[in-house]
Amino acid sequence: MKSYLVLLLILNSYCLVQAQKVTEPSTKTHPEWSRPYPPFQIVGNLYYVGTADLACYLIVTSKGNILINTGLASSAQLIKENIKSLGFKLSDTKILLTTQAHYDHMGAMAEIKKATGAKMMVDYADTPVVADGGLSDYDLDGKGRVFEPVKVDRVLRNADSIKLGGMKLTILHHPGHTKGSCSYLFDVNDKKRKYRVLIANMPTIVTNKKFGDVHTYPNIATDYAYTLIAMKHIEFDLWVASHGIQFDLTEKHKPGSAYNPAAFMDKKNYYAQIDDLQKEYDQKARKP
Ligand SMILES: [Zn+2]
Repeated sequence: MKSYLVLLLILNSYCLVQAQKVTEPSTKTHPEWSRPYPPFQIVGNLYYVGTADLACYLIVTSKGNILINTGLASSAQLIKENIKSLGFKLSDTKILLTTQAHYDHMGAMAEIKKATGAKMMVDYADTPVVADGGLSDYDLDGKGRVFEPVKVDRVLRNADSIKLGGMKLTILHHPGHTKGSCSYLFDVNDKKRKYRVLIANMPTIVTNKKFGDVHTYPNIATDYAYTLIAMKHIEFDLWVASHGIQFDLTEKHKPGSAYNPAAFMDKKNYYAQIDDLQKEYDQKARKP
C-alpha cells in the first residue's frame, strides 16, 4: 500500500512538471525569425528593435518606454542589445504589449518582464493564452506550453487607451489569427510633421481545419470577417506589422540607411495585402 502511494506521488509530480514544461516549436524553417537586424528609428520616438522578421517596437517617452512584442525565447538577448545600442535603457521599459499571443511574439516576454518589472497589458481575448503560455491556444489542441507564461497586469478592450509620458496608444481588437490579436494606433511627431502610425496585426489564417470544425473557437469565421472589414477602415499615415515580411521591412529599410519614415507610408502595399487576406478568407469560408 505504501509503495503504491509513493508511485502515485511520483506520477502526480511528473504530470505537474510535464504540464508546466515549455516546449517552443522548431523554427528551423524560419531562420529569419532568429537573424539579428540592426535596430533603427522608424519615425519620431518609434524604433525597430526586433529580428530580421519578428518585429518588436520600442516607443520612447519621458516617463519610460513601451515595448511591443518580443520574438522567440532566444530573442531576449538580441532585443536587450538592440535597445542598448540605440542608447536606451532596458530598465526604462514600463509597459509591455503584444499584437498576438503566439510564441514567436511572446517567447521572450517573461524574461523581459522579469528584468524590467514592466506591466503586461493584453487584449482580453488573448489574456488566458498569455497567462498559460499557449496551453489554451485554440489551434494547439492542448499540446502544452509553447512559451513561458506571463502574468497579465491589465486587460485591454477594443479602443482602450494605453498612456505613458504624453503618448496615447489605442488598441484595436482584430481577432481571428488569435482570439485576442490586436493592432495599435497612435500619433508620433518628428521635426517635420505629425504621423498617425498603425502597428497592424495582419489577419493571416492559422488553422488548417475548416472554420466550422474549429470547436475551440466557434466564432472564428465571424471574427475574421469583422477584422477584415475593420482593417479596411483605419485612418493612418504610416504602417508596420507583426512580421517584417508583411511590410517588406528589409526592402524598405536597408541596415545603416538614413532616417526615412516615408519608406513606411506606402498604403498601397497595406490594402493589397488586406485584399489578398480577404480572398484567402472568402475561399476558406466557402468550403462546406
Ligand atoms: Zn502568429
